[in-house]
Amino acid sequence: MQGDMNNSDTALAGNCHCGAMSVTVPEEPVATFFCHCQTCQKVSGSPFSVELMCPDAGFEAKGDAAVYTVSGDSGSAVHRYSCAKCGSGVYLTCDSDPGYIFLKAGALDESVEVKPEMHIFTAHMQPWVKIDDGLPRFEGMPPAEG
Ligand SMILES: [Zn+2]
Ligand SMILES: [Zn+2]
Repeated sequence: MQGDMNNSDTALAGNCHCGAMSVTVPEEPVATFFCHCQTCQKVSGSPFSVELMCPDAGFEAKGDAAVYTVSGDSGSAVHRYSCAKCGSGVYLTCDSDPGYIFLKAGALDESVEVKPEMHIFTAHMQPWVKIDDGLPRFEGMPPAEG
């Protein structure tokens, strides 16, 4: 739909469980992380989520999405997009991170390729979740790069 994109390569593609909603992202992720925050736990119905932070240039989403907006840890809004039909969480955007979208790892076609780099919001990590991967852990948000 976007005629001004001359790069048709797709780095990542995904869809919801019923297939009504699909996403494509041309850019590689800049960060991939386990999020143990309480919102991810409730919204996903599981003890954590895994998300890929990608530049939103050329990002496309198709199909009817339900949008659930909550206040994130920073106080700015987090918009969670799930399939309006089957309820699968597919991606989110954060007002605190303009220019990026966060893909849900489980929605990806090639989820086997996902390479998490860190754990965030481990202050809320469930004590019965035992992950011995040696990755960096942050009690809240990771420190800003620079
Ligand atoms: Zn669906
Ligand atoms: Zn989270």
